[in-house]
Amino acid sequence: MAEKKWVYLFNEIDEVQKTVGGDWDKVRSLLGGKGAGLADMTRANVPVPPGFTVTTEACNAYLAEGEQFPPGMWDQELVALKKVETLTGKNFGDPNNPLFVSCRSGAKFSMPGMMDTVLNIGLNDETAAGMIQKMGDSRFVYDSYRRLVEMFGSVVLGIPDEAFEEPLADYKKNRGLKLDTEMTADDWKTITEEFKTVVRREAGFDFPQDPYEQLRLATEAVFKSWNGKRAVDYRNAAGIAHDLGTAVNIVTMVFGNLGTDSGTGVAFTRDPATGENILYGDYLLNAQGEDVVAGIRNTEKIQNLNNDLPVAYQEFLDICDKLELHYRDMQDVEFTIENGKLWMLQTRTGKRTAKASVKIAVDMANEGLISRSEAILRITPEQVDTLLHPQFDTKAIDIAKKEGRYYAKGVNASPGAAVGRVYFDADTSERKAKEEHQDVIMVRPFTKPDDVHGMLAAKGILTSEGGATSHAAVVARQFGVPCVVGASEIRIDLEKLEMEVGGKVVKEGEWISVDGTSGLVFLGQTPTVAPSLEEQTDLLTLLKWADDICATLGIRKTYPGWPTKGLQVWANADYPKDARRARSYGAVGIGLCRTEHMFFEQERLPIVQKMILAETSDQRIAALDELLPYQRLDFEGLFEAMDGYPVIIRLIDPPLHEFLPSEESLLEEVITMRVKGEKVGLAKKEKLLASVKSLHESNPMLGLRGVRLSIYMPEIVEMQVRAIFEAAADQTLKGVVVKPEVMIPLTGTVKELNWIQPRLERIAKQVMQEKEVTFEYKFGTMVEIPRAAITAEEIAEVAEFFSFGTNDLTQMTFGYSRDDAERNFLIKYVEEGILPKNPFQTLDVEGVGRLMKMAVEEGRKTRVNLEVGICGEHGGDPASIEFCHLIGNNYVSCSPFRVPIARLAAAHSALKYSEMGVQVLEDK
Ligand code: PEP
Ligand code: MG
Repeated sequence: MAEKKWVYLFNEIDEVQKTVGGDWDKVRSLLGGKGAGLADMTRANVPVPPGFTVTTEACNAYLAEGEQFPPGMWDQELVALKKVETLTGKNFGDPNNPLFVSCRSGAKFSMPGMMDTVLNIGLNDETAAGMIQKMGDSRFVYDSYRRLVEMFGSVVLGIPDEAFEEPLADYKKNRGLKLDTEMTADDWKTITEEFKTVVRREAGFDFPQDPYEQLRLATEAVFKSWNGKRAVDYRNAAGIAHDLGTAVNIVTMVFGNLGTDSGTGVAFTRDPATGENILYGDYLLNAQGEDVVAGIRNTEKIQNLNNDLPVAYQEFLDICDKLELHYRDMQDVEFTIENGKLWMLQTRTGKRTAKASVKIAVDMANEGLISRSEAILRITPEQVDTLLHPQFDTKAIDIAKKEGRYYAKGVNASPGAAVGRVYFDADTSERKAKEEHQDVIMVRPFTKPDDVHGMLAAKGILTSEGGATSHAAVVARQFGVPCVVGASEIRIDLEKLEMEVGGKVVKEGEWISVDGTSGLVFLGQTPTVAPSLEEQTDLLTLLKWADDICATLGIRKTYPGWPTKGLQVWANADYPKDARRARSYGAVGIGLCRTEHMFFEQERLPIVQKMILAETSDQRIAALDELLPYQRLDFEGLFEAMDGYPVIIRLIDPPLHEFLPSEESLLEEVITMRVKGEKVGLAKKEKLLASVKSLHESNPMLGLRGVRLSIYMPEIVEMQVRAIFEAAADQTLKGVVVKPEVMIPLTGTVKELNWIQPRLERIAKQVMQEKEVTFEYKFGTMVEIPRAAITAEEIAEVAEFFSFGTNDLTQMTFGYSRDDAERNFLIKYVEEGILPKNPFQTLDVEGVGRLMKMAVEEGRKTRVNLEVGICGEHGGDPASIEFCHLIGNNYVSCSPFRVPIARLAAAHSALKYSEMGVQVLEDK
């Protein structure tokens, strides 16, 4: 049997590829990322110093065999070294013509700085002398030699760095020198000897003069470094498997410090910050690689190399082009020029900012380097998110942490950065923002619907209670206001108008910084950077391509009659201005207009209260008649903004007590009036208190709300439907194309729909008759109670569309209060692994998702073309969007600010599954 091959020369890449069956990923597994890159460049005729790779399999065998090289490995390494000698015309250990090599680690996935490297292997007293004779430059030789002794000592022999750093520092101090560049040949010679003494003292034996011994020990050290603490910790943090092993690359040394016709540098083939298609990098003449990275000397812009070494520079440009073409991505390269000759030492896919990622992907698709689909798949939804919200500068965050300004952490409810002065109630927040033009952070224990004006005026929101789908979170996301909720360490004192964490008190009017992206809160002002979608032309192009993918007929292979295009993206929008924003962000429908928010506006709330407190139906209708014009106006604006697109308007949902003052405050007022003997208005207040008491429920979220309220008090929704249809009719007469869809919330049984829907449809038809117009419309329901999902087949007999209200559906399926769970136990559940993720942020596919899948299937048994969407917070979450694609939703609906993210995520889902057969998830 042929001996196992443990070592491959860089020029044996074809053989490697054949051995692993052609798969490049497997090549990277065997040779590591660096080894594969060096070999691949060699194959592409890029000048790479000759060398070879000892495989990751050899590393694993070494570790498995109790730190013994596997049989044959060392001999193969020696044979490979001989071939390198032939290729370079130099000989390892030969004083007259010495070959020096580096020994570099290189795992499949880059683990920067986590494992070991030794340079200048092959130097000893004899080869050093030989080199000096050959080159006549003893400074260079001793500088290289002392580097080897130091690196060998620390990396291979485990001697602490200080053992070398201290004598060097003392030496420089004694001689009055500061910089390495001031050291002479004799200085380095002395240091080399001193370092050898350090090795003898610390290791108990001499620095090995035998080059082969150096190579063998360095190879072993790299193998061992795979299990070093740093590397293990890094793999744990980065989720890299522990059984991959590292390869060892032995590479001929090339020296950039041989004079002014030598140099070294690093470069990105495009600008990693902006993505611009210009070479971006630095170099130094007469220097070694680490000098560039360490920043000891001021580096030169890469373009200036054209003046210093034009021939090498032109070759470098050609190689960069070639590498980009070959890898079809921006590369991060390292090079050295030795006496005018260019050598490439590394190429890898370069890290970049979100902005650069988008620009590079779009440019490369336009250049024909990659397909549009590939461009789409290269961008993550998180990167789009980053581009749309003002962000804290990462450096600024680090500084804030260093300065001890970290304050608290909560749930990252609505992304983006906000800096402002703290105010503790909605009215003050609004006043300070509007009248005094202050930047405001509204801080509350939690928020209620009547805090919305303060929330809208604020730059950011912070609550000490509540979770990802609490009121504050939902509204903040809806309006794109950065928000952190449930920061439970914070004690808010609404009397003293201050908050406190661990003795740090923030008073009203003081500055804080709230990071809705990370959930962190800082004291004081932290600088932000602000983006805008309109200006981001590359992102707009990419999203347009994403829409094209989703609009492709047949991209979704599913059951007959079900949608075969990808998902559409609609938006949750309550006001015309939000609808306009939603459209400008690319939404093609409104999936949820929460009508109750309109009731909270200043001039309407008293009418709403009058309506709630009415004693007779006539009184109620009179109040509703007053509200009707306002509602009509709201809807007219929505239809106009969404000309030609569907608009789903949800009938009133929340319990009525939310529109009334709190029982506590009323009771306090009544008692005070009684005590003071104030008679005027007392009876009215007492009556109000009695009504509020009568509306009290122990569990309002499970009480008189949604369709139950509509059946209990049909006048309200009758008014709403009239307003919707009058607005739609008026807009139709103006030439706007309207597509109203009336949504009934919280249905649990089809009988509820049987009761209410025909009454409402009658009104719809009546209005159309009165106005003498017709237009498309639909009546449908939210599916947010498990029973609705289970009985979807019956419900679809009446409902023409379903929209999953996954906030309530999650709440009711788990039995977790959406307003309290995160504050109490949910975060712990996630930390303890009881739940994989917060189910109010990412759909619980196995439970809630299963109900949804059942509802779609059952519903479409009755009505094959049933329109299905989602309007809970999950509609903007990429993982949940993928699930909606798989179960056959027509669209997802989310906050306008998340529309671009959802568009990209929808295209990702479409592309990911486009090659598969019927995509509907099979039951486990
Ligand atoms: C839901 O329950 O998912 C929903 C969208 O309705 P709301 O959040 O208004 O209860
Ligand atoms: Mg709901």
